[in-house]
Amino acid sequence: MNTARIDLHLHLDGSLYLPWAYETSLKRHVIPEETTFEQYYDLVFAKNTKDHSESITKFALMCAVLQEREDLYEAAYQLTVTLAEKGLYYAEIRFASQQHTERGMSQKEALQAVIDGAQAAMKEHPEIRVGIINCMMHKGESAAANWQENVETIAVTGELLGKGAVGLDLAGFENNGDFRDYAPLFAEAKKRGIPYTIHAGEMGIGEHVLDALDMGPAASGMASTACRKRSIWMRCCSHRFPWKSVYPPMSNGISTTQPIRCAGCLRPGRK
Ligand SMILES: [Zn+2]
Repeated sequence: MNTARIDLHLHLDGSLYLPWAYETSLKRHVIPEETTFEQYYDLVFAKNTKDHSESITKFALMCAVLQEREDLYEAAYQLTVTLAEKGLYYAEIRFASQQHTERGMSQKEALQAVIDGAQAAMKEHPEIRVGIINCMMHKGESAAANWQENVETIAVTGELLGKGAVGLDLAGFENNGDFRDYAPLFAEAKKRGIPYTIHAGEMGIGEHVLDALDMGPAASGMASTACRKRSIWMRCCSHRFPWKSVYPPMSNGISTTQPIRCAGCLRPGRK
């Protein structure tokens, strides 16, 4: 039986091929040179973290190894080839361009590197199509902490929309500050015609899902906590809200603490 396979919630930095990430981390001096692969694996693998907040900290080490254009390109290329070999025919790979500027890359260069890597793989594997979602970030104490970086994320996504980029998201530790402070950023994205999804509801009891609904996204990045409270859940259902969650098999253990696999639409329950 032919089964259509798509992946709409796939983190580039959560899906690195670990032997490559390890070798590159050594080459870029991201980890001490005496680090063994086994030690590296324990550092980055999130299976034993106590909660999602802790697992999110694992992304820092993966972003640290993706600070050169050629490395971002290679990571996107490898992931797209892997997806094609697994039989997927469409995927949306997400990353945050502002997380890759520590060694001088601009956000636009970072986004272009990921697009180029994915497109090179698609030339070799025309059976798969891949779009790139560029994420704004929750960082620091509130939305003000990296406001300019997020504004730039919107700008570069707009510039490359339709040229490999397919949309915008908001990712990171969502309990920093008031979630609703991000609304003007999404209003700006809407003004520019950039489609967006919103990571919301990974933490807490789902209140952020309602905040995200008010910002008019095309989908929620991960609304898994929405089902913890009936009133929130029912409001999501009434919106027929597309719900895209992490697909664990392609992740190297980061962001897989929540036992939900889903990429579909919530529907009103039967009476
Ligand atoms: Zn995610």
